[in-house]
Amino acid sequence: MVFIDVHTHAFSERKKVFSIVNTYPDSKDFSKPFSIGIHPWFIKKEQLGNQLSILEDKLQSKNCFALGECGLDKLTDVNFELQKEVLIKQIQLSEKYQKPLIIHCVKAHQEIIALKKEMKPKQVWILHGFNKSIQLAESCVKNGILLSFGAAIIANKKLQETFLELPLASILLETDDNEVAIEEVYKKAASIRKINIDELQQEIKQNFNTIFI
Ligand SMILES: [Zn+2]
Repeated sequence: MVFIDVHTHAFSERKKVFSIVNTYPDSKDFSKPFSIGIHPWFIKKEQLGNQLSILEDKLQSKNCFALGECGLDKLTDVNFELQKEVLIKQIQLSEKYQKPLIIHCVKAHQEIIALKKEMKPKQVWILHGFNKSIQLAESCVKNGILLSFGAAIIANKKLQETFLELPLASILLETDDNEVAIEEVYKKAASIRKINIDELQQEIKQNFNTIFI
């Protein structure tokens, strides 16, 4: 059974791992299954037109599984209105090319939920690297947003409690840019849920199939 890593910055050669590698418009290697997006940290107004057209081109590649990461971040210097504008353009592309959206969100969960309600996308939205409260998790899930958990669940007790409360159908797992093996994330996740790793792999595979295939 495969360990699906829905969002990583490093490709794994291990046979039992299937990962979606995060790329940017200026990335060079698109030979592995990837997602591509304009990250809110790296928005440059003068490059936007060019980046969006690269995005549009890459979204049509058979290796492309998702649009992202893209999103909103209140702790970065990039103008928030500009971030929103760029996110909306990417949401439109995710709909046009029928690719799920992988979202980076820092202190802007309400804005993401509001956009979801307003735009009513058909594509699934995945909030990656979730590490917030149960209340926030539940309000995302209630609005049809899936949550992807990473290395933070290994040691963060509060996050473990959140993780335990959520329906398995609304979760995914990832390594992001952390130096952790995806197997370790599954191991911890399974022990929190008190299920076998096999069962967890099956659940995540099922979620993955519903979203991506
Ligand atoms: Zn990332």
